[in-house]
Amino acid sequence: MNSYISTVLQEVKRRSQDETLFLQAVEEVLESITPVVEKHKEFQDAAILERIVEPERQIIFRVPWQDDKGIMHVNRGMRVQFNSALGPYKGGLRFHPSVRLDTIKFLGFEQIFKNSLTGLMMGGGKGGSDFDPKGKSDAEVMRFCQSFMTELCKHIDADTDVPAGDIGVGGREIGYMFGQYKRLRNTFHGVLTGKGLTYGGSLARTEATGYGVVYFCQEMLKDKKTSFEGKTVVISGSGNVAIYAVEKATQLGAKVVALSDSSGYIYDKDGIDLDLVKRLKEVERKRISEYVKERKSAIYKEGCKDIWTIKCDIALPCATQNELDGDAAKTLVKNGCMYVAEGANMPSTPEAIAVFISSKISYAPGKASNAGGVATSGLEMSQNSQRLSWTFDEVDNKLHQIMINIHNSAKNAAEEYGTPGNLVNGANIAGFKKVATAMLAHGLI
Ligand code: NDP
Repeated sequence: MNSYISTVLQEVKRRSQDETLFLQAVEEVLESITPVVEKHKEFQDAAILERIVEPERQIIFRVPWQDDKGIMHVNRGMRVQFNSALGPYKGGLRFHPSVRLDTIKFLGFEQIFKNSLTGLMMGGGKGGSDFDPKGKSDAEVMRFCQSFMTELCKHIDADTDVPAGDIGVGGREIGYMFGQYKRLRNTFHGVLTGKGLTYGGSLARTEATGYGVVYFCQEMLKDKKTSFEGKTVVISGSGNVAIYAVEKATQLGAKVVALSDSSGYIYDKDGIDLDLVKRLKEVERKRISEYVKERKSAIYKEGCKDIWTIKCDIALPCATQNELDGDAAKTLVKNGCMYVAEGANMPSTPEAIAVFISSKISYAPGKASNAGGVATSGLEMSQNSQRLSWTFDEVDNKLHQIMINIHNSAKNAAEEYGTPGNLVNGANIAGFKKVATAMLAHGLI
């Protein structure tokens, strides 16, 4: 590793020694961008790397709320405003008991490069809480969201920082938070994305991340002169991203045979019944294990990691970080899997990525292949600013074109910097160059 990069990395490790996810994300990006930093000495002279790994601002706050029995609870809320070189901070909010500052920092750091790749004017940020919406009543979720927004509203605005959803934050939570923001600030503007269609949301935003992953993977398939038609696909997770990845892959002629949640996975040899999954997950908020009670062709197995033992042509990890390790990657490759495109953020461990790269299968890192969600959030912001709504097809066509562009940028950057086919390097380089160039232009801030 280049000595400048290695010094920066050592300093990040010293400052953030307990933040293992953040360090994992930083290490991958810094390693990938070595050739760019060597070519552009001006980045080193302007301390771009030292600045890009340090958030511009971190806000941590108390979120007190009362449950239905009147018992009081306190959760921790966070927003990391990581980098605003390309536009207002933009990135989702995650509500999950596992959320720590480390989680939000890794997601915020990834978001900088992802947002850059979309070609839209968006900086990188992320937020969330260790609150668990699972098993809570609507009234409890509403009280939590209102309390969360009571503090967050002091730090965000349509031109400053525009949060969206992520794990545990869907349309219901965005609605409650939007309502509270509007009430406290007395303004109606696009301060959140992923809104409902009746109050400023964009058509195709719900579908965007899942569709986007499949559009990206379609480009990888085209490079190998093939398509989704007739392919067997395994998708982890059964939330927003997974559901719409199933929808688009199925529309393109593939058969999706598995889905999971954090408890286990289902295998349906006849292909996933998407209407059933949507009802169970989106309407009834049930566990994925319920699927097999209504579908005789399917089986359920405890333990989500074994989903990667199912034979498939294409794997789309769409659940959470580090869900696919080195052994799972080896099993996938051994079973003939030729394409992996990430819907989740950093779902493959560094060991898994090394397996994919060395076995020369087509592998797309999340910051490139799952960028369709934030890209469509960017399109929602544009519509809100114009006070206009575009049709589903208009948004979907723009999303599709953005995913093609991201694929091409990553592919071309990988070639230009000497690692053809390595989309990890390509995505990191293409994303980084634009942010670094803007930071250079802005002076030392
Ligand atoms: P949802 O909350 O809708 O769904 C998350 C899914 O992942 C659920 O099935 C959940 O299962 C599963 N999951 C969560 N934690 C774990 C775990 N520790 N182990 C195994 N499975 C787990 O979230 P999304 O679909 O929105 O997000 C999924 C991934 O996609 C995340 O990594 C997110 O950051 C990323 N992403 C999302 C975008 C979006 O637009 N929503 C945009 C870009 C990336 P369970 O119900 O058991 O918790």
